[in-house]
Amino acid sequence: NRVIFSGIQPTGIPHLGNYLGAIKHWVKLQNKPGDIYYSIVDLHSLTIPKSRTFMRTSILDITACLLACEINPERAVLYQQSCVPEHTLLSWVIGCLVPVNRLKHLPQWKGRTYIHNEKQMPSVDGGGHIGRYTYPLLQTADILLYKATHVPAGDDQAVHLILTNEFAKSFNRTHGHFFPQTQIISDPTFARIRDLRNPTVKMSKSSQSENGRIEITDYDDAIRGKIKRAITDCTSAVTYDPDNRPGVSNLVQIHCGLSDITPTEACNTAQNMDTGAYKTLVANVVIDHLSPIRERYFELRQDENRLKEILKYGNQRAAKVAKENFNAVRDLLGIQL
Ligand code: ATP
Ligand code: MG
Repeated sequence: NRVIFSGIQPTGIPHLGNYLGAIKHWVKLQNKPGDIYYSIVDLHSLTIPKSRTFMRTSILDITACLLACEINPERAVLYQQSCVPEHTLLSWVIGCLVPVNRLKHLPQWKGRTYIHNEKQMPSVDGGGHIGRYTYPLLQTADILLYKATHVPAGDDQAVHLILTNEFAKSFNRTHGHFFPQTQIISDPTFARIRDLRNPTVKMSKSSQSENGRIEITDYDDAIRGKIKRAITDCTSAVTYDPDNRPGVSNLVQIHCGLSDITPTEACNTAQNMDTGAYKTLVANVVIDHLSPIRERYFELRQDENRLKEILKYGNQRAAKVAKENFNAVRDLLGIQL
């Protein structure tokens, strides 16, 4: 049985990277067989503390965004992570079986000093918090709690999937076969959309550079402005070479992802254009694609009670499976009498 799990943090409005790297796959997978869980992973987002208002708003924003992108809450279980306590329970079990050193080099911990954000509340010390260190354990729990076989996600999640599979294997060796192996679903062309202002890093919700990301609810003018100011290089031809020309290749990737074409096809279209003219083309493609999403978003976002009802429905469905699977784990561990 195919089981799909994926999550998104309520850390702001999703951007083109989230859309092309994850949400677009999420939508497509709804037409294939299998159980589907899409989680708003609020517990993960607590690792960078925000205000109460920010969190409350953000959870509803993300819910409306996902619905606007045509996630179907009847087909997929769309729910809020913290409403299903088994995520943290399983994460504790996993923490009891994973060595401290295994997490030391994972990016969530290693990169912590580089993540600063005005939306973030001031941190009391420079050392970093335990939650940030054990974040990958919670992620492993998210996936294994539903015995997921496939995780549609960007390539920043690949290292966490390795940990998940390692853990599952070692658990199965000791306690008998229970957890499946999980594979990532990601398309190399869209798995890492880069920051428009700094193409050496990925586009992120929690990066300070707002001009570096296009949020899926951005207005047309904002989209045009951000793409116009996107960093490219001194070559004016449009070619696809992510290693040597990350800036312009990023625009090609965005173009391809939204138009369902290959980089070769995109470059052919742009054969007689310089990067300036190509930016105008890409901006138009983005605007055409995002404006209906933005309209649906603003409509959906007005009815907060409906959004809460939708999440509540998902929470109940997720909780049922989570409880069943976690009880099976308790049984294997000998703590279920
Ligand atoms: P944050 O900066 O708060 O971590 P984020 O932009 O990284 O936000 P997440 O909520 O952490 O977004 O990730 C949601 C999904 O989007 C994940 O599957 C992740 O791999 C994917 N993703 C995030 N950024 C990109 C990107 N730039 N390109 C492709 N996929 C991405
Ligand atoms: Mg992230």
